[in-house]
Amino acid sequence: MVKKAFFITGTDTGVGKTTAAFALGLLLKDKKIDVGVFKPVQCAGDDALFLRESLDIDDPIEIINPYFAPEPLSPHLAFARQKITIDRQKIFDAFQALQSRHDILLIEGAGGLMVPLSKDYLVLDLVRDLGAELIIVSRLGLGTINHTLLTVEQARGRGIPVKGIIFSDAGGKTKGVAEKTNPGAIKALCGVPVLGTIPKLKNLKAAHVLRQCRGRIDINPLLRRGDVPAHLVQMDRQYVWHPFTQMKDWVQDDPLIIERGEGSYLIDTEGRKYLDGVSSLWVNVHGHRHKDIDRAITDQLHRIAHSTFLGLSNVPAVQLAAKLVKIAPKGLKKVFYSDNGSTAVEIGVKMAYQYWQNTGRRSKKTLVHLANSYHGDTMGSVSVGGIDLFHRVYKGLIFKTIGLPGQGWESVEAFERLLKKKANSIVGIVVEPLIQGAAGMIVWPKGVLKAFRRLSQTYEVFLIADEVATGFGRTGRMFACEHEGVTPDILCLAKGLTGGYLPLAATLTTQKIYDGFVFDYQDQKTFFHGHTYTANPLACAAALANLEIFEQKRVLEKLVPKIKYVAQKLQMFYNLGSVGDVRQKGFMVGIELVRDRKTQEPYAWEERIGVRVCQEARKQGVILRPLGNVIVLMPPLSIKLNELDTLLKITYRAIEAVTK
Ligand code: PMP
Repeated sequence: MVKKAFFITGTDTGVGKTTAAFALGLLLKDKKIDVGVFKPVQCAGDDALFLRESLDIDDPIEIINPYFAPEPLSPHLAFARQKITIDRQKIFDAFQALQSRHDILLIEGAGGLMVPLSKDYLVLDLVRDLGAELIIVSRLGLGTINHTLLTVEQARGRGIPVKGIIFSDAGGKTKGVAEKTNPGAIKALCGVPVLGTIPKLKNLKAAHVLRQCRGRIDINPLLRRGDVPAHLVQMDRQYVWHPFTQMKDWVQDDPLIIERGEGSYLIDTEGRKYLDGVSSLWVNVHGHRHKDIDRAITDQLHRIAHSTFLGLSNVPAVQLAAKLVKIAPKGLKKVFYSDNGSTAVEIGVKMAYQYWQNTGRRSKKTLVHLANSYHGDTMGSVSVGGIDLFHRVYKGLIFKTIGLPGQGWESVEAFERLLKKKANSIVGIVVEPLIQGAAGMIVWPKGVLKAFRRLSQTYEVFLIADEVATGFGRTGRMFACEHEGVTPDILCLAKGLTGGYLPLAATLTTQKIYDGFVFDYQDQKTFFHGHTYTANPLACAAALANLEIFEQKRVLEKLVPKIKYVAQKLQMFYNLGSVGDVRQKGFMVGIELVRDRKTQEPYAWEERIGVRVCQEARKQGVILRPLGNVIVLMPPLSIKLNELDTLLKITYRAIEAVTK
């Protein structure tokens, strides 16, 4: 059975949460379902003890109720007066322990959703952090519609699924007009199922409560396997074409379908949890369902989801542009928005090219890129790509560029030789600074980026830095260029820009390049480029929240020990004979698998060694995606040390199992 947790909250204090929890517990047990109870925080009363005893549950009371204060006050006050600080980790640990023991866990809140547990943490935040589904208990009577709808709205605003509403008829007033009509009205107004009404109870004896509630409270919605249709797997095979995927293979297996996320974890339609070892393809930064980003998006949603940026501006996009200029390498002054990494580069390339055309240097027409470069999948970014497997087939379609041979210093020397001869025909060079991601996490020697900067400046060609992968903390600094004090002429950003929430990209550039487009209208030197969803306000709001978290939570500072920890733990991978090389730059890691370390003989591509290791890791609860024979680790920056440890251990075991 899939494990589930339901958080029972009230529209107010004293509406009958404990009775509702008791009734649900009895009804579930009556169906032979293993039920546990959890009362994380209790102020006065004996609700936790009552539920434990009357539902005949044998978990220790200290786990069922980790926090107790004797005064009937709001928890933030009740515990402060006892000089007790609520440690959320203790609550999460108790929750996990109980969840592992029971199929269904009924969690009873304290008061309503907006009750503070501490000065910056509400019951609502706890529900969200526990990943529980909500059951709202409402008192029957006047005012119920308002209180219930407010509670539903708040929960939905934070992305908490509301499973149902239970009415409690503590006053025995079922007969009044309000009491009779409220449940129907509430269901119609918010669409949440009404599970039923608990009638006025003479006593709280189990047999009596069960008799009174059976037939009046419907627990079936709690037992359904989420809201995901069971035939989703079949529908995926029938209707979907997946990116970078040989569909002939895909349709042979059951796809893993993700339904939810929480922190460093992805959760599938069966309720199974997986560590997100590659940040959902290198995008997630602060974890899934971060409350600040969730809130920023819903707040923006209440204003407007989208308006065009062609001929209009919008609030979050302007604020974000100012913020990006502030944090980007010094000298980048203007922000041009688009939707993804490929378009960020495409725009960078077009901008650089048109600048020279606009300013009279017409011979400058050729772009330079590195060997094994990857800058995206649109034709412009494919043209500056150097990964044969992906790019070969489009040779007849793309424009001509120059790919530099070699790696690191070799490519610097080749660049210099080229510039000496042909600088007059060169627009600029596109690079992934410090680490070439898709090439297999190839780390540059120190100084190479600086050398590219110096040469491009000397010979008057542009340096276009593609920080789509490296940006937003992945290398340990906000941007990889910072490691060498380099300001490129054009900086391409995407992926982590919105914390991994929504597609948004930005191409930043200097005043000089911008000025190369400022002419009279009739000169027709405008930058004729723009996508329908450019500067989408929801995405910009997410990006603003993402950057705010970096600052407020001192994310980069906290990353330093994690990077060291990874570096230290990666050494153990050399115990495996199949590990040819381990490369790391900050939180970007590539583990290259070879048939023989001594000779560095590679595995044949057809052996799909990387794919097989990732399949094995998935069986053990970790999601990875390889680059050929290179296993990539790139977890969210927010990953906890113990999760990092699990990620590394499972990766190790998966490599061992597949290559031994
Ligand atoms: N540039 C780099 C360095 C990348 O790693 C990627 C994607 N992995 C892209 C560009 C393309 O980004 P997108 O997939 O968002 O188009």
